[in-house]
Amino acid sequence: MDRFEEVAQLMGARGGDAYFGEDVSQLEHALQAAWLASEADGSPTMIAAALLHDVGHLLHDLSEDVAKHGVDTRHEEDGYRWLMERFGPSIAEPVRAHVAAKRYLCAVEPEYFARLSEASLQSLALQGGPFNADEVLEFERMPWYRNAVQLRRWDDEAKTPGLKVPSLETYSQLLCIV
Ligand code: FE
Repeated sequence: MDRFEEVAQLMGARGGDAYFGEDVSQLEHALQAAWLASEADGSPTMIAAALLHDVGHLLHDLSEDVAKHGVDTRHEEDGYRWLMERFGPSIAEPVRAHVAAKRYLCAVEPEYFARLSEASLQSLALQGGPFNADEVLEFERMPWYRNAVQLRRWDDEAKTPGLKVPSLETYSQLLCIV
């Protein structure tokens, strides 16, 4: 199986799952994030990272409302390991940091924090809440932090019910070259 086939298999098996507390499926969320990345002239690497940023959610068997039950699935770590094996650090590292990027943005942008959905606030609490001043500085020292923040913004926007965006097949070549 090539990398695209592996992704297609995961999306086929689990992509129909709801995206935690939002009115889009995991597949719709992934496709919208990738589309936002390409509309913003993101690099092929960043488009692939956007498409795959939540792959960790497709790798476990917990139900979609785990956050409501106080469980943080640490999907960014599962996703990171899966992506490192297949794509390497330029895709895996921003994905690993996309949850931390939310804690970072909540600390540095009050208007970002004010816009979070209820589901997103719930998961923020489980993830440790907004960063403190030291954590902000530490985050800004990471080489991938800007990519992680960018990825986070696409992630947050990729929740429009019924939005028509290009299909998964659109990315078949891209996933084999990045
Ligand atoms: Fe996401």
